[in-house]
Amino acid sequence: MHFEEDLGKKDKSTSLKEKLIRLNSSIEIESFSLKVDENSINKFKESNVLVDCLDNFHTRYILNEFALKENIPLVHAGVESYYGQLTTIIPNKTPCIKCLFPNMPDKKEEFPIIGPLCGVLGSLEAMEVIKLLTGIGDPLSGKLLIVDLKSMFFETINFNRKNDCVVCSKYF
Ligand SMILES: [Zn+2]
Repeated sequence: MHFEEDLGKKDKSTSLKEKLIRLNSSIEIESFSLKVDENSINKFKESNVLVDCLDNFHTRYILNEFALKENIPLVHAGVESYYGQLTTIIPNKTPCIKCLFPNMPDKKEEFPIIGPLCGVLGSLEAMEVIKLLTGIGDPLSGKLLIVDLKSMFFETINFNRKNDCVVCSKYF
């Protein structure tokens, strides 16, 4: 969604909004250019669904806790190299991101991602959002989809809430 002409622009949200409106001029988009932290995230209290397209676990944990606190479903995806993962968190029903990753993985300043991986995981996240908003189908709740595009490996595994999860135990 970002073109050569956008190189050097700091504000990805505006660039994205411009492209989406060129695809469909009848949609309404409110974009925010901000760093997500414990305070700024409160802008998203009215959301019907939250979608994790983040590149770091620090912010991902903030989003996870916000989703549980505000009782908003959260679609999580993560990508690195050829590998991706996807799950949908329904507050008070399913395990959360902190149940799945209790310890923060080491922060990497740079990591490789093959372009099609973002396309695949992004489309799968969009499908999860459509399912949540329409009630059609079964979201990946309590399930983790693991994808390795190098070998075209797709597998779904179940995972459970951790009894000692510091986030779940705070809200449920
Ligand atoms: Zn949890």
